[in-house]
Amino acid sequence: MHRKEQIRGNVKRLLAELPQEVVLEAAAKTRTTEETLAAIDAGIKIVGENYIQEAERAFTVIGKLVNWHFIGHLQRNKVKKAVELFDLIETIDSFSIAEEVNRVSSKMGKIMPILIEVNSGREPQKFGVFTDDVEEIVVKISTLASVKIVGLMTMGPYEEELENLRPYFRATKTIFEQIKKSGIPSVDMRYLSMGMSDSYKIAIEEGANIVRVGTGIFGPRRRV
Ligand SMILES: *Cc1c(COP(=O)(O)O)cnc(C)c1O
Repeated sequence: MHRKEQIRGNVKRLLAELPQEVVLEAAAKTRTTEETLAAIDAGIKIVGENYIQEAERAFTVIGKLVNWHFIGHLQRNKVKKAVELFDLIETIDSFSIAEEVNRVSSKMGKIMPILIEVNSGREPQKFGVFTDDVEEIVVKISTLASVKIVGLMTMGPYEEELENLRPYFRATKTIFEQIKKSGIPSVDMRYLSMGMSDSYKIAIEEGANIVRVGTGIFGPRRRV
């Protein structure tokens, strides 16, 4: 079958399968603009990008047809581009990067929606805030006028056995609800972004309302 047909079929099948309240985000790293367009043609409304350069290239063609989420690790020197291009940054993992996003957004007269990335597996080699520290950083970032916290994101550790991911998703959902209940001014806990191609079902069972799917839509990634 033609690759674009496969992509369209995968998106349609996933959209039919997911509960109404869950949004399917296409994780587009390493894909061509044509492949991303095929996914959009089949109903994708959010595209997730890990790399600013790839995002710029795709954005030039696709533009405001969809919402763009940044899901890579945000470097300080890329913040300006990120604030220009993206509708939501999912990977804020420190007060200092939030401050930089705030500074740039303020200059552009924009309020940037962000998610806090949670390192739910407490893995030292990975980015994200440990679950114990999330509420504190949310309180601190909530004082910045030109960023707005709208939820949490987590990757979870790599687990051979998928069921072993469940506790990490559950812990992230618990902290999500806790922060929601504490009613911190100007924080709006709406989005919980968890789950990828292999784990989205478990993530949804544990409360995700955004799932980020790459290979499940586009097929295996090419080597880069
Ligand atoms: C690549 C990526 C995904 C999607 O991964 P798949 O296993 O291909 O579905 C989701 N989230 C992030 C942050 C990614 O980098």
